[in-house]
Amino acid sequence: MLTATMNLSRFALGLGGSLALGWLALNAADPAPPVVTPGQNGSPPSDAIVLFDGKDLSAWKSSEGGAATWKVQDGYAEVAKGGILTKEEFGPVQLHVEWAAPAEVKGEGQGRGNSGIYLQGRYEIQVLDSYQNPTYSNGQAGSFYGHSAPLVNASRKPGEWQTYDIVFHPPQSSADGKVTPGSFTVFHNGVLVQDHVPVPGDATTAAQFKGVTAKGPIFLQDHGNPVRYRNIWVRKLK
Ligand code: MG
Repeated sequence: MLTATMNLSRFALGLGGSLALGWLALNAADPAPPVVTPGQNGSPPSDAIVLFDGKDLSAWKSSEGGAATWKVQDGYAEVAKGGILTKEEFGPVQLHVEWAAPAEVKGEGQGRGNSGIYLQGRYEIQVLDSYQNPTYSNGQAGSFYGHSAPLVNASRKPGEWQTYDIVFHPPQSSADGKVTPGSFTVFHNGVLVQDHVPVPGDATTAAQFKGVTAKGPIFLQDHGNPVRYRNIWVRKLK
């Protein structure tokens, strides 16, 4: 009994010693990560670029040309004639968006609360009122439209605010012309719906994906339904 206790003590001491050495070595070699002050309840962290804070759409322009003319009131912007796109263009990003489908339910399937968030103006994470509203799976809320259905349907009821947290890496082309797919990871209302799914480059047949670009705008779609947006911010990734 006594022997067993002594052996255990020696083992614990040895393990503790090696762990402590490893910890010291790692800290000595690696630079400290930058400090970011996190937001609260979805508000932007300190290193985010705020794209819409509920007051104005000065970071955006209309896809029809000129300034973004969506109605802004009570801290949200509502889809109106034409889509809007950011003036700034982005490569890999973390993107936070809050949206609400119309409280008054009109239409069905793709005709109900349809909008969309396009990364680089081309890769759409679908916005749709998918609360008890069946449609094709790779076109419902949280889908990478036309490519990847969400893992689950995490939709809230029409009129309720919903969140998307999107991590996007664009496809890249190398010097020899080969295209490496990018990726989407998406949380819908905090629930994982896209788990590092590939974003194709120009290997796809979809014409709008032809070519690969390092940067592009974030685009919010007008699909004819008065979807609302608020609290949009983005962090550039390396
Ligand atoms: Mg759409």
